[in-house]
Amino acid sequence: MPESIKTLIIHAHLFTMQGDGVGYIPDGAVAVKDGRIVDVGATSELDARYQASETINASGCALLPGLVDAHMHTYWAIARGVAQDVGNWMQAALSPYARHATPEAKLAGTKLNVVEALKAGTTMMMDYVPLYDGWAEFYEKAGVRARLTPMINALPKTGMAGLKLGALYPYDDDAAQMKIEASQAFIQAWHGAADGRITAMWGPQGPDMLSEDHLIQIKKLAEREGLMIHMHVAQGDREMNQMLKRYGARTPEYLANLGYLDEQLLAVHLTEATDEEAAMMAKSGARMILCSGSIGIIDGIVPPMRAFREAGGLVALGSDQASGNNVNNIFNEMKLTALFNKIMARDPEVMPAWEVLRMATIEGARAIGLGDKIGSLEKGKQADLILVDLTAPNLTPVLVDPVRNIVPNLVYAASGHEVKTVMVAGKILMRDREVLTLDEAAVQAEAQEQAEMLSRRVAEDSSLHGQMALMAAMEEGRL
Ligand SMILES: [Zn+2]
Repeated sequence: MPESIKTLIIHAHLFTMQGDGVGYIPDGAVAVKDGRIVDVGATSELDARYQASETINASGCALLPGLVDAHMHTYWAIARGVAQDVGNWMQAALSPYARHATPEAKLAGTKLNVVEALKAGTTMMMDYVPLYDGWAEFYEKAGVRARLTPMINALPKTGMAGLKLGALYPYDDDAAQMKIEASQAFIQAWHGAADGRITAMWGPQGPDMLSEDHLIQIKKLAEREGLMIHMHVAQGDREMNQMLKRYGARTPEYLANLGYLDEQLLAVHLTEATDEEAAMMAKSGARMILCSGSIGIIDGIVPPMRAFREAGGLVALGSDQASGNNVNNIFNEMKLTALFNKIMARDPEVMPAWEVLRMATIEGARAIGLGDKIGSLEKGKQADLILVDLTAPNLTPVLVDPVRNIVPNLVYAASGHEVKTVMVAGKILMRDREVLTLDEAAVQAEAQEQAEMLSRRVAEDSSLHGQMALMAAMEEGRL
């Protein structure tokens, strides 16, 4: 008697990401029951073994684990395209929008960004935002897997807008303490919510953005609760300058002395870290998140990811924010990561397609501490998976012999819009490109309306216009 299961996906070009490569199975199948993968193998075998409530014929599709985006600031989708192509992106372009972003505008950005990422095959979203109402609730409704990090800093309410370039930022320690307490309450409410689909992390915004006492307090809380710390580290010359002025040390050395370098730390960017510093951090067990698109656009830098990995470190990919990337799409990150590193090394053998695909799946999952649950298609893991339509013109022809071209085409030729179906924890969230859990048109309309209102508030605040580099470009007809 065949075993009853919920879903059987058959006839796929199956990439399990098991083993050391991509784990390809021709004419492959995946069996799903109670939100988990119960079997993976050849279609002929699974077809005989199971009786499914629903059978999905994935002929002409690649079947992959859902993609991991380990670093997003989803609220910034509300200001997509207003901050790039300038020096000191944060202070000279983004901060005026930050000052005027209301909680409603931020939530509208989150909704838009989640839809955007989901439609491009991202099933695991690590969002990092200043807390606002409705944020986690939206993830619960959307059905995606999320690791949520409320952002903690001691910056004054006005943020960085108006601060003199290069001056030490003033700390508002009371504000930081309140954010720590709000994070604690958030973690208690949401860590493990939605049957474990939603989890949380601690999130100091950067070692330069709150006091040493508060950094130590957060480290102790994270240790007590067994949670990871998601933090921007060495994220630019602005931060290094602050650290040298404040503590007389570069960030990696400072964090080593503070006891922050271990497997609990998810270090985002390492933009300004040297290869030696990156290797030292990797050897400590710390994990790295690489945001190739955003750091390329806002800094013109390729972070020392290769040195980090060569020292044994685990690396996940992140899309960062839509103002200064300007998309949240892991297909884009895979391609840019491969290209930027080849170009920097002047070597086409550097970062081959299969390796960046592993960073977007199994390696990324391990880096964020979820390697036992997601990142590959294997028995016992969560059924988080995507089907990519290989009949799209840009993915045609599909060849399997003597050379299989699917993985290179997924990395170098796909845009993400070929993702056809998305499943998380056994539930289909998108079918044939239609998002089933959310009203896409309403999400887009709300984002457009909130973005226009935000722009109007920035336009009316002439006190900020002097520091907005892109206003000059507007006047000169360049935008
Ligand atoms: Zn970031």
